[in-house]
Amino acid sequence: MPQPAPMQPTDRLGRPLHDLRLSVIEACNFRCGYCMPADRVPAGHGFDAAGRMDFDEIETLVRAFARLGLRKLRLTGGEPLLRRDLPLLVARLARIPGIVELALTTNGSLLGRHARALRDAGLHRLTVSLDALEPARFRALSGGRGDVADVLAGIEAAQAAGFERLKLNCVVQRGVNEDQVLLLVERFRRSGHVLRFIEYMDVGTCNGWRKDRVVPSAELRARIHARWPLHALDRHYRGEVAERHAFADGAGEIGFVSSVSAPFCGDCHRARVAADGAFYSCLFAGAGRPLRPLIAQGEDRVVEELMMLWTRRADRYSELRGAAPQAPRQRVEMFLVGG
Ligand code: SAM
Ligand code: SF4
Ligand code: SF4
Repeated sequence: MPQPAPMQPTDRLGRPLHDLRLSVIEACNFRCGYCMPADRVPAGHGFDAAGRMDFDEIETLVRAFARLGLRKLRLTGGEPLLRRDLPLLVARLARIPGIVELALTTNGSLLGRHARALRDAGLHRLTVSLDALEPARFRALSGGRGDVADVLAGIEAAQAAGFERLKLNCVVQRGVNEDQVLLLVERFRRSGHVLRFIEYMDVGTCNGWRKDRVVPSAELRARIHARWPLHALDRHYRGEVAERHAFADGAGEIGFVSSVSAPFCGDCHRARVAADGAFYSCLFAGAGRPLRPLIAQGEDRVVEELMMLWTRRADRYSELRGAAPQAPRQRVEMFLVGG
């Protein structure tokens, strides 16, 4: 049966709803200091299944988003590969009409075990976070829990399973892992994967963010360019967050996500839903809007609510960040909304 054309609501700044980050679990097996510091988030956090949406609820929710024009869905967490039977969920979501890209962001530690099943289930794209290549540094950055060899093996397994052009995300912090940048570039030039350097953001309330820890993309780009000349590429589409650059010698592409030094709120077409079903209109939002009670009333009710939430949206936190000092306030944690 032909599907009705999606409604295309825009928010108060004229931005459509094209993109959803959906967390499937709050738990994580790492404790990266910029996201889920070990001294602030206890070891067993987020493993209680009762608080999270089940697969039926998630499917109803995503179908409702698709009716409003959603095109890209990214599964995240916490660590999404800790969610039991994730490939079964992927298979259900991959069948929803209108979703042209179904992607997943992972710390890669369990990817070696799950890459094939995710591919077979219909996952299109993978992003793997990788902040260091040196084993000791990697371990420290993961809160003493991760092994970089597992992540590198996971990347290989993903490629062998048929995933192409993985995005490899590195959050750079001044004096912490700056020295890993050229090592990472050297390692992944010519690999066919796209390394992306992300500015350290003031998300949440527990990571002790400091502006002097942010390494602006322009500075990193200059450092990389001095070693391997780069030239800028056009964006693939409006709303793409990474600025793309190609190596002049044809060794592929890298990207920079400059959320702090060059905010892109004007093109932010993204909603976020936490594993417990709370809706957030911005990465820096305070309280979320609980959707589970509405999901229980069916897809039409969710469409109605999302329409209301999206058309009221006026967030542009990152653009305002530099304009005036903002009063301390409640903010959702990164491990709840997944980036
Ligand atoms: N656990 C998965 C992972 O690490 O890829 C998915 C969830 S994690 C919250 C998603 C992304 O957010 C990761 O690439 C991580 O590096 C990034 N991230 C977390 N905290 C950040 C911060 N304060 N600034 C910038 N990026 C951050
Ligand atoms: Fe876990 Fe990802 Fe957050 Fe690191 S960034 S603590 S891997 S959720
Ligand atoms: Fe989007 Fe909010 Fe980030 Fe601006 S600050 S780009 S509105 S998530």
